[in-house]
Amino acid sequence: MSIKRILVTGGAGFVGSHLCERLVAQGHDVICLDNFFTSQKFNVEHLLDNRNFELIRHDVTHPLWLEVDEIYNLACPAAPGHYQYNPIKTMKTSVMGAINVLGMAKRCNAKVLQASTSEVYGDPDVHPQPESYRGNVNPIGTRACYDEGKRAAETLFFDYNRSNGVNIRVIRIFNTYGPRMHPYDGRVVSNFIRQAIEGDEITIFGDGSQTRSFCYVDDLVEGIIRMMNGPDEFIGPVNLGNPNEFTIKQLAEQVVELVGGGAGFVHKPLPEDDPTQRQPDISLAKAKLDGWEPTIQLAEGLKKTIEYFRSINFDDFRAPTPNY
Ligand code: NAD
Ligand code: UDP
Repeated sequence: MSIKRILVTGGAGFVGSHLCERLVAQGHDVICLDNFFTSQKFNVEHLLDNRNFELIRHDVTHPLWLEVDEIYNLACPAAPGHYQYNPIKTMKTSVMGAINVLGMAKRCNAKVLQASTSEVYGDPDVHPQPESYRGNVNPIGTRACYDEGKRAAETLFFDYNRSNGVNIRVIRIFNTYGPRMHPYDGRVVSNFIRQAIEGDEITIFGDGSQTRSFCYVDDLVEGIIRMMNGPDEFIGPVNLGNPNEFTIKQLAEQVVELVGGGAGFVHKPLPEDDPTQRQPDISLAKAKLDGWEPTIQLAEGLKKTIEYFRSINFDDFRAPTPNY
């Protein structure tokens, strides 16, 4: 295998840190770029001593000038609480970030992969969601900064491909969880595990009948790397996620059972535009990515995530800074 120079934007984040780890282990020259808005150096601290790993503090809304062979564009706040903190900045990150990585890819003839999302399907009325489904997104709601930003980024990727011949890949990631999620990101898995460990009430939004399909991070990273390295004829978009679907109530019960204890469940109002159901149709990924499919099921993945959450000190983590 030839050694490549690879840029991972958002590389210090939850998914990005696992991706950097895999690419470093494969021997590639990895540049991790992050502005640490929703992450901390902690996630990649263990990689810093590798001679094939480099860390840059930079914001993707500003132009980049690097020489690389491949770019994985993951920079973007992903948890609702994080992306709604400064919605205009979220949209800028998706759109200007895409323009900057695409411009760089064009200049240095690099291949560039966009981490898009199941949110492009909005609150879906087709179930499960195939890539051909065009979605049901509210363009003026509180989730729009993220959903529409990611949709615009997909448009930019396909236009740079058609107009400038840039070699692109687009993946649509469904709810992914695992070690190195930020304990205060407000996402459902991190919230439930932290609450259960601390003996707090588990906060179920709405009646808990809404569904999500949870993918363990190692399965996702395998899919991401296969997509980048797949044939140039298949640029996506492709769904990557675990098709096993659970209600939020079922997830809460499973977390409580695995952690033990807990102070029971408390119901809170359902956030605006919260999708009622979500499940990836992964037949395209299976067909095009060498039979890729998730291998780690929820109970096993939750155990590994709980183990990680027990190993960290929650006080070492902070929410997005008000000075940002
Ligand atoms: P995360 O918040 O842990 O990681 C995002 C990283 O991007 C963070 O390290 C953050 O500091 C960085 N970042 C944010 N804005 C930036 C900017 N302007 N310049 C440079 N860096 C910036 O979230 P994650 O779950 O690891 O998500 C990674 C990517 O995958 C995101 O693009 C997200 O939209 C996508 N995604 C994730 C999921 C999931 O369930 N985890 C689902 C769908 C899509
Ligand atoms: N959720 C919940 N309690 C929480 C956090 C989230 O019931 O403490 C619900 C949320 O309303 C949504 C689901 O869990 O229906 C997944 O939320 P998350 O923020 O993890 O991801 P997304 O909505 O972006 O899929």
